[in-house]
Amino acid sequence: MSRALIIGAGGVAGVVIAKCCQNSEVFSEIMIASRTKEKCDAIRDKLQPTTKTVISTARVDADNVEELCGVIREYKPQIVINVALPYQDLHIMDACLECGVDYLDTANYEPEDTAKFEYSWQWAYRERFEKAGLTAILGCGFDPGVTGVFSAYAMKHEFDEINYIDILDCNGGDHGYPFATNFNPEINIREVSAKGSYIEDGKWVETEPMEIKRVYNFKGVGEKDMYLLHHEELESLALNIKGIKRIRFFMTFGQSYLTHLKCLENVGMTSIKPIMFEGKEIVPLQFLKAVLPDPASLGPRTVGKTNIGCIFQGKKDGKDKSYYLYNICDHQECYKEVGSQAISYTTGVPAMIGAMMVLTGKWKKAGVHNVEELDPDPFMEALNKWGLPWEEDHNPVLVD
Ligand code: NDP
Repeated sequence: MSRALIIGAGGVAGVVIAKCCQNSEVFSEIMIASRTKEKCDAIRDKLQPTTKTVISTARVDADNVEELCGVIREYKPQIVINVALPYQDLHIMDACLECGVDYLDTANYEPEDTAKFEYSWQWAYRERFEKAGLTAILGCGFDPGVTGVFSAYAMKHEFDEINYIDILDCNGGDHGYPFATNFNPEINIREVSAKGSYIEDGKWVETEPMEIKRVYNFKGVGEKDMYLLHHEELESLALNIKGIKRIRFFMTFGQSYLTHLKCLENVGMTSIKPIMFEGKEIVPLQFLKAVLPDPASLGPRTVGKTNIGCIFQGKKDGKDKSYYLYNICDHQECYKEVGSQAISYTTGVPAMIGAMMVLTGKWKKAGVHNVEELDPDPFMEALNKWGLPWEEDHNPVLVD
C-alpha cells in the first residue's frame, strides 16, 4: 500500500502508469503530474475504470523546485518517479531532498544547452541523499536500467570477473513513417548525433558519430546493422563491475533513418543553438521535434520486435566464458496490452519495477545508486512477471 508521484505524461509515463495500475497491491494510489495537465487527465480517464489504483492528477513545472515541493507536500508520496526529460533530473532530486521523498529516474541529467550526458552531476548528490536517509535510483529504464541489472546478475551468478561487455540495442520495428524517433525526438537526436565512445583499459576512446559499424543476427529480429554510440551506463558499469577491460554500446539503425538524420544535420535542423526566426528565438532541434510524429502516437502502427541485451565475456573458476542475456519484445503485443510501442514499454516496465523494489524495501538503501549496485535477483524475477521475460545464451556469437 503506497503512494507514488509520477512526473511526466509522455510515451514512457503512459507505460509506467499503466503498469502501476496493473499492480494496485503495491501502487494503491498514484498521482500523475506534468506540464500539460490535460494529458495527465486523459491518461487518468482512460485507466481509472480499469484499476483499483486511485489516480489523481496535477499540473507542475518540474523545473521549478518550489512548485514541485508544493505538489509533493500536498500529495505526500513515498517515491517520485521521474519520467519527464533529463533536463528536470536535478530539480526533481532537489525537491525530493527538500521534502524527504525517495527518487527514481530513467535517464541521466543533461544540461539543456549542451548535448552532454554524464553521471557526475547526479553522483554529486550522494552524500545529501545518504545523510537524509533517502534512496535515489538512477537510470532505471531498459538501457540504462535492465542492462545494469543484467550485468549485476551475470556478475553474481555466472562470473568471477567480467572483462568485456557489449550492450546490443536492436529495434527491428517498423512504424511506416519515412522518419520518426521512438522516444522524445529531441533527446533521441541529441544522443545519436553525438560522437561515439567506449571505455577501454579505464579510458574513454572517442569515435566520430556512427564511425564503428557491425552487423549482428538478432534472435527474433534477424540481421541488422548496428553502430557504436556513447551511452550513459558505460560510465557506471565500468566502475561497478569487477574486472572490466572494455565496454561498448551498439544500437541498430536502418539506412533510411541515417540518411534522413544526415540531411537534417546538414541543413542545421538538429542544432541546439538558438536562432532568431521572425523576431522570436527558436532552437532548431525543438522546432524539428514539433513537426515530427509524437513517439506516443507510434503504437498502433509499429510492427516487429526489439531485442536488447548484454554479451559478457570473463572468467569463472579460472576458465574463459561468454554469456548473453537479452529480452525480446513485440511492438504489437505492447500496443495490445498498454497502448504503446515497445520502446516506451521496455523503458516504462523497469521504471515501475524499480519503484516497486524501493517501496517494498528490496532496494531501499540510503544514497544515490545506479541499478547494478543493488540486488538483481528480485528485479530479474519481476521482469519475468511484469512483461519483459529474459532469455540467456551460454554460447553467443561475439561482436568483433
Ligand atoms: P516524452 O517527450 O514523450 O514525455 C516527456 C514528458 O515530460 C511530457 O509529458 C512533457 O510534458 C513532460 N515534461 C517536459 N518538461 C517538463 C517540465 N518542465 N515539467 C513537467 N513536465 C515536463 O518523452 P518520453 O516519454 O519518450 O521519455 C521520457 C524519459 O524517458 C526521457 O528522459 C527519456 O530520455 C527516457 N528514456 C529512457 C530510456 C531508457 O531505456 N533508459 C529509453 C527511452 C526514454 P508535455 O506533455 O507538456 O510536453
